[in-house]
Amino acid sequence: MTAAPYRVLVTGSRDWRDEQRVRRELACAWQESGRPIVVVHGACDTGADRHAALWVRDCRATLLGGVTDEPHPAAWKQGPGAGPARNRLMVDSRPSLCLAFIAPCTKWNCTRPDVHGSHGASQCAAYAEVRGITTRRFTP
Ligand SMILES: [Zn+2]
Repeated sequence: MTAAPYRVLVTGSRDWRDEQRVRRELACAWQESGRPIVVVHGACDTGADRHAALWVRDCRATLLGGVTDEPHPAAWKQGPGAGPARNRLMVDSRPSLCLAFIAPCTKWNCTRPDVHGSHGASQCAAYAEVRGITTRRFTP
């Protein structure tokens, strides 16, 4: 009998630059789990999602096995609500751990006067916490 894979949700800002941080935290989570992991992410082509997808690709290339990903691209054609809907779906898939890489908001039309994290990843991390999923937050 094989152990059920350990599901790790990666959420993060599109302009998250520190690729090594993402790789380190994923490697750490994998090691801690002691079993195969599935990296659940939003398949954004930049930022934390991208770094996570590349880590999975590199792990697979080593032939060690035990690492796969489960991309959840948002249906952006359906409007701006597609991102949050996708995030809820990822959280509701019951990952064991959420890694949130949250850079400051750079939204051009954001009206909040304070410094705060990018909205999508912040909301995803908050929702994961509400659902009782262990969530680790990282900032640049
Ligand atoms: Zn903002």
